[in-house]
Amino acid sequence: MSWARKLVTPYRVDDGEKFRLKDFDPGDTGLLRSKGQAKKLLEQGIASMAELQDKLYAQDCWGVLLIFQAMDAAGKDGVIKHVMSGVNPQGCQVYSFKAPSSEELNHDFMWRASTRLPERGRIGIFNRSYYEEVLVVRVHPEVLKSERIPSSLVTKDIWKERFADIKAFEGYLARNGVVIRKFFLNLSKKEQKRRFLARLEEPEKNWKFSVADIHERASWGDYMKAYEDMIVHTATPRAPWYVVPSDNKWFTRVVVAAAIVETLESLRLAYPEVNPQKRKELNAARKLLETKDSS
Ligand code: ATP
Ligand code: MG
Repeated sequence: MSWARKLVTPYRVDDGEKFRLKDFDPGDTGLLRSKGQAKKLLEQGIASMAELQDKLYAQDCWGVLLIFQAMDAAGKDGVIKHVMSGVNPQGCQVYSFKAPSSEELNHDFMWRASTRLPERGRIGIFNRSYYEEVLVVRVHPEVLKSERIPSSLVTKDIWKERFADIKAFEGYLARNGVVIRKFFLNLSKKEQKRRFLARLEEPEKNWKFSVADIHERASWGDYMKAYEDMIVHTATPRAPWYVVPSDNKWFTRVVVAAAIVETLESLRLAYPEVNPQKRKELNAARKLLETKDSS
């Protein structure tokens, strides 16, 4: 088993049925003994990712969709910045989903996400995603109202129906060669408080602070229930969730890097083979350069 698989296996949920959030400790640091060890592994992960991404791009068949969901201050932005630091920006697309615009509210909820899916050969990152539709929208019923779904269609089954729709959508993508991996950065309420206080105290972190984020803390329990139910209903072998311990940023980053490496390794990527016709062309081109091109 590769180091990457060994590190992430405890956090990977392929079958949500028995998933309980209380079994996952946000402060866990797994097999790692020190920050230094994590730093080395992260560097190794980033290097492997760069090699694998180059093949992904050259092969141009698979697309990879990485979805990040979390409470505020869990470190989504930092993870994306650090973990993807070694990959070629041309092969990577990041999209951050905010509260929907009025144009987006004129459509079904998947519409805006479906136009931002990664192309073949690329890694696409969703910083938040259509999963907000079973999180913030579930915790705040007035948000659901703003979606203007005909009232006869809004029943007590709406969340089950959304889970079924999301699963079907992900199944469709998987069958088209889009590999989906989902990350829930599992932060404790206590650590969130500490990070909010740091945002207030340190001038260079002030810009990250938003009063609205503090209000969301009041709904912490409802959010945790919504996250648990989401994972129970949408973790599948072809689109698993990783429940990443997030009270220690250094650990979060190495787990996410390892999960991406594990995923890319599982695709058995290779550079396209040069066929005899192409080989001929390459040889002819070399001759041209060597004999006729004197400059
Ligand atoms: P982040 O909070 O992701 O770090 P940010 O602070 O730059 O990013 P915000 O303006 O807070 O951006 O936008 C994210 C907000 O948008 C979150 O509060 C999220 O719950 C909300 N949001 C995202 N998708 C939806 C949706 N489909 N319906 C309602 N609200 C949504
Ligand atoms: Mg925000």
